[in-house]
Amino acid sequence: MGRSAPAIVILGNGSLATARKIQQRYPEAVIHGLAGRVDGADREYQEFGATLRELYQQDTPIIALCAAGIVIRTLAPLLLEKGAEPPVLAVAENGSAVVPLLGGLGGVNALAREIAAALDGAAAITTSGELRFGTCLLNPPSGYALGDLELGKRFVSDLLAGESVRIEGPAPWLAEAQLPEDQQARLAIHVGHAERQPSANELLIYPRNVVVALTSGTAEAIRTALHEANIALQSLACLLADERDMASSALRETALEMGVPLRFNARSGTVLELARGAVPSLLTAIAINDSMAIAVAAEPLDPLLIGRPRGRLAVIGLGPGAAELMVPAVKAELARANDVLGYETYVRMAGPFRADQVMHCTDNREEMQRARHAFELAAQGRSVVVVSSGDPGVFAMAAAVLEALHESSDAHWHNVDLQILPGVSASLATAAQAGAPLGHDFCVMSLSDNLKPWAIIEKRLDLASQADLALAFYNPISRSRPWQLGRALEIVAQHRTAETPVVLGRDIGRPGQTLRVTTLGQLTPDQVDMRTMVLIGSSTTCVFPRAGGGEWVYTPRWYGEKPVG
Ligand code: SAH
Repeated sequence: MGRSAPAIVILGNGSLATARKIQQRYPEAVIHGLAGRVDGADREYQEFGATLRELYQQDTPIIALCAAGIVIRTLAPLLLEKGAEPPVLAVAENGSAVVPLLGGLGGVNALAREIAAALDGAAAITTSGELRFGTCLLNPPSGYALGDLELGKRFVSDLLAGESVRIEGPAPWLAEAQLPEDQQARLAIHVGHAERQPSANELLIYPRNVVVALTSGTAEAIRTALHEANIALQSLACLLADERDMASSALRETALEMGVPLRFNARSGTVLELARGAVPSLLTAIAINDSMAIAVAAEPLDPLLIGRPRGRLAVIGLGPGAAELMVPAVKAELARANDVLGYETYVRMAGPFRADQVMHCTDNREEMQRARHAFELAAQGRSVVVVSSGDPGVFAMAAAVLEALHESSDAHWHNVDLQILPGVSASLATAAQAGAPLGHDFCVMSLSDNLKPWAIIEKRLDLASQADLALAFYNPISRSRPWQLGRALEIVAQHRTAETPVVLGRDIGRPGQTLRVTTLGQLTPDQVDMRTMVLIGSSTTCVFPRAGGGEWVYTPRWYGEKPVG
């Protein structure tokens, strides 16, 4: 799996030019600017420390344009925890110095050199092995895996102490390194896929050149098969299965346990043929049994070029608008997306996106078409996100996506990894700002009669009002539905007093948001538009003044007699 795009974190406008130069080198990198201090960053953050720690914990490479000390102090509390260690660099605001701080095994030195070259600055490399040999032996290029880190460290210190080394097997990336090579050396770097007992004199590096094709089988069965074929586990590049088994959770768990990607191809013949077909320059192919076969390639393999992954479709909720109210799972999903579909306003709200991410903006009304398009893309193995505002399950895309799937008999669609990720719905975001108007039983309704008969809406309004439920109205009014809200309020007024508290939240969590507390008697449809959430209290809903102006609105948790205590 590739690393995620780097985050370039800046504190002021003075760093923007340097940040942009770094971004030219890594076009997928995202510039995070401090809100109120930086104009024109890709993304705004409120708090430096929290942002840096969150990026670190998400294993995002961090390029911070500030003093190294600030970065060290900020990340220090996380360093004792075991977990992600992405590359972390401090870069001087003017680009003159690039200091790799953390992530030695994640390629931080290579990154520092690249950035320094792009900025015409100097990389402050302090890793002895790297300085002496021009490469980090413990961090072989992608396509290769290090046998054992602890043995490796010892090996490198022996080398640094002045010993010479032999290279056994093909190691093209070492051709440019300045290693003290000698055919008679005691120390050896051994590159190969054969299973081998590690010894103190050897640095074992495994090419990832092995594919296991299977229709079923546990991780244990794979380990045994590889062992019997004398192939090192570390050389396994990926598992490959028949695309008809894409939804198999057993295969997914096996791949997870092995720590390798699971890829799919169409299978017409035996599993041995499936294995052979996946590998460009085949060295050997071994049939283990009817359900498992091994193919070994002459060169390391890039799993991303073998077959295709299981497609993923996530229907996500952005929350009302503010970035802090978006759940972390949604942020992570947006970062992994290849395609983003939705109504243009929401797609823009979900951004910014990298150059490699494709945005498909459509009209708000083309929901079923959008849902089908999403499945078509996901069925090709892409990672697709469909965006809704608020929660995707509340008058939004999740139900449309499931309806499209339900109507389809296409196995490729049903095999897609479908996820619905929740968000903070407008009624809840509005309620939270007002206090707790939905603190007791409440009823959520859309007043739009586009997809349901108006008679049903009237009936539900009547019964919900009679039942004394607090009410939350979505889609309260629009140009094409001008009279419906007035009629709805008439029905509610038959069961509630004119003093009943009402909360109007407009553009909550977005720029220019307004929150207004009024009463049912004073509420008129012209105070409401399609960007407004209408909350109507029940008979128990109370209002009292808040210090500093405005009111608190809440509906107590009890009903009838107030309990004692
Ligand atoms: N899935 C969304 C609702 C979509 S229906 C959610 O869970 O919030 C669209 C309606 O939601 C709008 O007509 C408006 O009534 C309400 N709405 C959506 N976002 C809002 C916001 N930020 N502030 C106030 N109301 C909002």
